[in-house]
Amino acid sequence: MECPLKSVEELIDHDNRCWNKEVIDRFFHPTDRAAIYKIQLSYFNIEDRQIWGVSKHGDFSIKSAYHHLSDLKAANQRVAASSSKARPWEETPKERRIPVDSMCPRCGQAEETNEHILLTCPFARRVWFGSVLSHRVSDGEEIQLHQWIKEWSAFTSQGKRAVGETRTLISFILWHLWNARNDLLFSRKTWTAEEVIGRAHMARGEFLNASKNLSSPSYVAGLATPVHWAPPPVGTFALSCDASLSEDGGRSGVGYLIWDHTGTCRIAISDPQCFSKALVGEALAIRQGLLEAISEGFLKLRVESDCQTLVSAIRKPITSSHLSIRPIVEDIHFLVSYFDDCTFQFIPRAANTIADALPRRARSVAGRTV
Ligand SMILES: [Zn+2]
Repeated sequence: MECPLKSVEELIDHDNRCWNKEVIDRFFHPTDRAAIYKIQLSYFNIEDRQIWGVSKHGDFSIKSAYHHLSDLKAANQRVAASSSKARPWEETPKERRIPVDSMCPRCGQAEETNEHILLTCPFARRVWFGSVLSHRVSDGEEIQLHQWIKEWSAFTSQGKRAVGETRTLISFILWHLWNARNDLLFSRKTWTAEEVIGRAHMARGEFLNASKNLSSPSYVAGLATPVHWAPPPVGTFALSCDASLSEDGGRSGVGYLIWDHTGTCRIAISDPQCFSKALVGEALAIRQGLLEAISEGFLKLRVESDCQTLVSAIRKPITSSHLSIRPIVEDIHFLVSYFDDCTFQFIPRAANTIADALPRRARSVAGRTV
């Protein structure tokens, strides 16, 4: 049956401001009809606007998209467990007897199933491979979406957070592939694979940032400005230091970063060092950072460490320092005399997460980024 309908407007009886029952009953599946009739129409011919159906107010948010996808997945798993027959979401438009062209509008090479749109279409394959996941969708035509999602979930060798972040990205890639397909079909708008990848990555970043701000701050790869941290005043630099002590003591390291007043990281150094106590490592990090700041001519400095004991020790007379760090603290006092201004601050670990990550990197390799 040929479907002459092009827009929702044609489903409305404009004289009576209600749904046109005759048209709807003719072209829609009973389930869809019932859903359409539940939608209340405005009495006035107000201007159309796009709404996001899964949120209360119709406004799109990354969070609601994520929850929507999670709900779909959960529902999918529930019904898959209870019945192998009742899977309405697996019905393609063709199976639901909606009169549409069943071939993929993008490649025209295969029938447009959910699996084709989201996984096996050459376009989808390019997206998966081009994403940071570098995933190659296997060639088998029998891939089933819910099975495929399950297999991704089995990435248990990664830490809990990494698994969560990977799943988040998978959800957003699926979501954007779906949007790209709808835009192509309904708006004749073509997204490139790079656009899908870029938007999915960006949405993932926004989502993780939003959830990070809701819970405790965490380190996300990249030299971004630490959370809850204010850059130093103009003309002053901030030195963030930290140390990491490995279990066997042999692969420990120190790390420090120097930031300017704009919050830009000017120097990031990680250096493997041997020490037996975390406190000693923290002191070594500050000493090394001070030397670096002097050699760069950064003579107004705010030194930040998340080791309260060390910051107190530096502020007090040398004789009150613990013996294990006394020589280093002495060096620190000496180096301070080279600066026009040098202050020491304790900052909580949450705000020092980036300096914190550097010494861990130092365990494997000495690194310097300027
Ligand atoms: Zn295709």
